[in-house]
Amino acid sequence: MIFHAFLIKYAEIAIKGKNRYMFEDALVKQMRIALSNVEGEFEVKKEQGRVYVFCPEEYDFEEAVEALKKVFGIVGICPVVIYEDQGFEQMEKDVVSYMQNRYPDFSGSFKVYTRRAKKSYPITSMEVSAQIGGKILEAFPQACVDVHDPDLTLSVEIRDKIYVYSETIKGPGGMPIGTNGKAMLLLSGGIDSPVAGYMIAKRGVKIDAVYFHAPPYTSERAKQKVVDLAKLVAKYSGPIRLHVVNFTDIQLYIYDQCPHEELTIIMRRYMMRIAEHFAKEAGCLGLITGESIGQVASQTLHSLAATNEVCTLPVYRPVIGFDKQEIVEISKEIDTFETSILPFEDCCTIFVAKHPVTKPNLKVIHRSEMKLEEKIDELMEEALKTTEVIEIS
Ligand code: ATP
Ligand code: MG
Repeated sequence: MIFHAFLIKYAEIAIKGKNRYMFEDALVKQMRIALSNVEGEFEVKKEQGRVYVFCPEEYDFEEAVEALKKVFGIVGICPVVIYEDQGFEQMEKDVVSYMQNRYPDFSGSFKVYTRRAKKSYPITSMEVSAQIGGKILEAFPQACVDVHDPDLTLSVEIRDKIYVYSETIKGPGGMPIGTNGKAMLLLSGGIDSPVAGYMIAKRGVKIDAVYFHAPPYTSERAKQKVVDLAKLVAKYSGPIRLHVVNFTDIQLYIYDQCPHEELTIIMRRYMMRIAEHFAKEAGCLGLITGESIGQVASQTLHSLAATNEVCTLPVYRPVIGFDKQEIVEISKEIDTFETSILPFEDCCTIFVAKHPVTKPNLKVIHRSEMKLEEKIDELMEEALKTTEVIEIS
């Protein structure tokens, strides 16, 4: 069956009043971006309080649906067959032929739901539904009408043309990217941070990212893995500017100057400081990490507090209360899992102490950081200056 359009359903509760306009415009924009990667021509249009994708040319249905399934804000995707308006009798025939094509052996319960966008249409919606229902019963003697809990709802929209649909493919929900500002994701090669980025993006937040790279201790392949993860997240979030920070000299310096059991915490404090620098530069309103309470020594409440202390922007940690297994499930759903588990080294793991502190004392940490006074500013400046920016789309 050839579908000429998609009717896009979105959650309307969250978008009353003047927000509605902003929401719909952002949705249309993100849909256009998503469909630009699909072969064929698509026209995304707002029409009388609805959003449609019209498909005037031949196109790959599966690919188009896959692309739309990644656009936040979409709750349902309904493939539509469009018929010319050639009078009511023809409409009845068209709807019956839709049923015959789509559900040749239909024997369940159904209802017809008619909506007249064209109010001048001479027959009321109720009558249209009743008449068409009758014709369907004639063509499908095994079928029956159930207006309360039907197996199939056949929607007929009367516009300039007649739109017929009966299926809703589930969308990702959430809010369209661009309706909620921008935040900076600390993206490592692990399982958690891509999921964290996805979750915040789902609330309409545009995303940039920063990755701390420690050559030669971390390889080009480890960096490529992060680029690949950013690409997977970008399928949902849209383009990401990925900042690759050369972190080696800072890490080595901390390693030389500070107690090894405090290394991870101090290192993470520097990561946050650098991420915040780029966040502010890019106009981001927060940081995002994949931290989850108790997962590792650096994610106890004490450690999180110590890391958080250096941040002035809010830090969003959407997986904070999730078990690893729950995070893994989302990463499988969004297709980042297989990439995340590739076995490349991470800059955090290389210098990790045998017995890292799990209850860092802030006074002690401050004292240790004093030992970095001599060179740290210079090293930070160098790290900022040599950061490579990769545009991911
Ligand atoms: P993930 O699966 O996200 O790597 P993790 O369990 O390995 O998480 P940590 O290594 O302690 O946890 O890192 C916690 C968070 O700090 C990560 O989720 C990520 O947001 C950030 N982070 C850690 N290492 C890096 C890095 N090399 N570059 C950028 N961000 C990082
Ligand atoms: Mg990690």
